Parts: sequence; structure tokens; C-alpha cells
Amino acid sequence: MELHPITRAIRIQTPHTAEMEHSTPLFLTSSFCFDSADEMQAAFADQSDDNIYSRFSNPGVNEFVDKMVALEGAEAGVATSTGMSAVFSAMMALLKNGDHLISCEAVFGSTHNIVKKYLPDYGIKCTCVSATRMEEWEAAIQPNTKMIYLETPTNPGLEIIDLEWVGKLARKHGLILLVDNCFATPLNQRPIDFGAHLVLHSATKWIDGQGRVLGGVIVGESALIKTIYLFCRNTGPALSPFNAWVLSKSLETLDVRMERHAKNALKIAQALEHHPKISWLKYPYLPSHPQYEIALKQMKNGGGILCFELKGGIESGRKFLNSLQLLSMTANLGDSRSIASHPASTTHGKLSEEERLKVNITPGLIRISVGLEYDQDILNDIQQALKKC
Ligand SMILES: *Cc1c(COP(=O)(O)O)cnc(C)c1O
Repeated sequence: MELHPITRAIRIQTPHTAEMEHSTPLFLTSSFCFDSADEMQAAFADQSDDNIYSRFSNPGVNEFVDKMVALEGAEAGVATSTGMSAVFSAMMALLKNGDHLISCEAVFGSTHNIVKKYLPDYGIKCTCVSATRMEEWEAAIQPNTKMIYLETPTNPGLEIIDLEWVGKLARKHGLILLVDNCFATPLNQRPIDFGAHLVLHSATKWIDGQGRVLGGVIVGESALIKTIYLFCRNTGPALSPFNAWVLSKSLETLDVRMERHAKNALKIAQALEHHPKISWLKYPYLPSHPQYEIALKQMKNGGGILCFELKGGIESGRKFLNSLQLLSMTANLGDSRSIASHPASTTHGKLSEEERLKVNITPGLIRISVGLEYDQDILNDIQQALKKC
């Protein structure tokens, strides 16, 4: 029977042990035994799928990966310890000295450090391009360009990049398109359907969805995944079996969770859009969003994140955070609990104002990761905090 990816995210399961458990057990073991020297030899010679050692593979980790492969419509995948080890491993496995990379300027802060600070030391140069000035992308292509890297929606400015357009550009020039799909999740957006070769996630965010564990995953074309898998197998950023077990169980509820996150976020975005203390509010599924049409084309809903600019600037941002009673002040996103952050005074506090503006971090920018609490409670807290700034 052909099963929908949503069903497969619930039903893909490691074969039962002799106990006939219903839910997947936790395979907390560093290595696996063999019945004979022949079987062990075959496993090491890649002539069987038997697990050998949990740095290479583990049943629970495989289950998590298989579910992500199904959800993203990919061929194969590999799990990693964190989102950042997914980013770093994919780049290090596929790029070499002399290669050139094009990355969207507005990427996760640590990703920006990898492409601008660390990769150049290995002879891999990167050109950063604007999320919205698409003419910069084709102009950045050089004879040695190997890969295009992007996130959409971008963090924290929520710009939307046209995946179909970039997918075509990458295929026309024979470049690998790697998309960080963390903000949208595969339930909302599937970059592979638009031409991406590889998709990665910080599973720490919506995939866990309850702020418990760190994890990462890369899925996509088999040949590319094989290269990344061997890099990870040798260098060691393995996902812990415990975290894989948590994440695999989380995938069983991802669809319903993301639907509710998006429903709450849309309601809050609509209610706050014209608030007198706010100069603008961005949410991909509001018609006022500059890339609304692209969002409709490639996203099933607007996602769980919205952002707005306080008229009072940086001081208002601090006052807003200090006035919150329900929303958490924490450096995460994608949680059942709503979270507010003020990038200018926190995550991007070390940058100069000019550097911040280059990545669209305006002084009064507030990012809200909308949780699963009762929607009116979230809205009431934001509204009472807005009164005080
Ligand atoms: C958090 C995040 C990462 C990094 O993930 P970790 O699990 O914290 O290593 C990468 N990309 C995006 C978009 C993120 O939000």
C-alpha cells in the first residue's frame, strides 16, 4: 500500500524486537554483535545493512532519518549531532580547496561564520548575496562555483527566496543547491520539489518542537548523501541514539503541531499588523508581505514565526522583553512555548549597527516563535507588553 509521507512519519519503524513492543524502543548501545565471523566480515565489506557501531549507524537513528527522507521526498539521508554539524559536514564533504560557494547573506549566525570565517582557511571562498535582489545570484557565479546555499524564510527577517527560481539557476549551471529548511519544516515546504539537491535541518527546532534535544539531519540525492555519510562516519558528528528516539517520536506529531503553530501565528500577525507601537510586521501569509506571492507558491502555510519592528527602537526592544509575562526570553525557536527575541541586543549584539542593517536586523526588531498555547493568551501577553514600550 502506497502511504502518504505524513503516515510514514508516524508508521516507519525499526523491526520489532522479540518483545513485540508497539512504540520504538531506545537502542542505547554503542556497538552491535554478530553471530559469526562471516556476518561481521560481510557488514564491514558493506555487503549487509547490519549495524556495526553507533558512530556509523543505529536503528533508532536510521528510523529518524527514514522518516525525514519520506517527509522531504528525498532519496537518502544522514543524521548529525546538531544543525550546525549538518551544515558543516555537508559543506566539508562536498567542497574542496579552490571551490567557490554562493550563500544567501541572511543565514543563521553560525552558518555565516562557517562560510566567512572557517571555509576560507581551507581555500573555499564564499560570495554572499541578497535574499531579495535576485540579479546578484547569477552575477556571483564563477567558473569554480560548486554550491548555492540558502534558508527560506530567512532568520530573523522572514524574507522569502523563490525556490523554483534558484532551483532552475542551480540546474542550469550544474551547481548543488543546498537548502536549510529549518524554519518551514517539510510539512510546510519541500525544497526538493523545487529543484534542491539537498535539504538540511536543525532538528533542535520545530522537529523536536519541545525544546529538549539538539539534532541535525541532511537529506537528498543518494550519491551526494553517500559522500556526506562517509565524511560523518569518519569524522564523528553522530546523532545520539537517545536524541534520535526523541526526534523520531516528535515526527509523529509534526503535522498537527505545525498546523496549529501556523494557525496561531496567522491570528497573532493579523491582530498586531496595524498596532500603533509597530512600524511594520512581517508574516509570510499576510498579503502585505513583500514576497507574499512566492510564499503562497512554495509554502503550505505561513509557518510559526513572525517579526515586527517597534517604533521606539532598541530601548523599546529591551522594554518589550522585560514586560513579557508569558512568552519566554530564550535563544531558541520552534517550541510548544512561545518565545520572543530581540536580535539587536542579543544574538546580533556584537555587530555594529551598520553590520546589523546589512542583514536586516533593525534596532526594534522583535522575533516571535509562536507556540501551542491558547492563541488569545499569547496575543494578550504581547499586547500588554507593547503598551509598556
Ligand atoms: C538553530 C539553527 C541552526 C543551527 O542548529 P543547531 O541545532 O543549534 O546547531 C541552523 N539553521 C537555522 C535556520 C537555525 O535556526
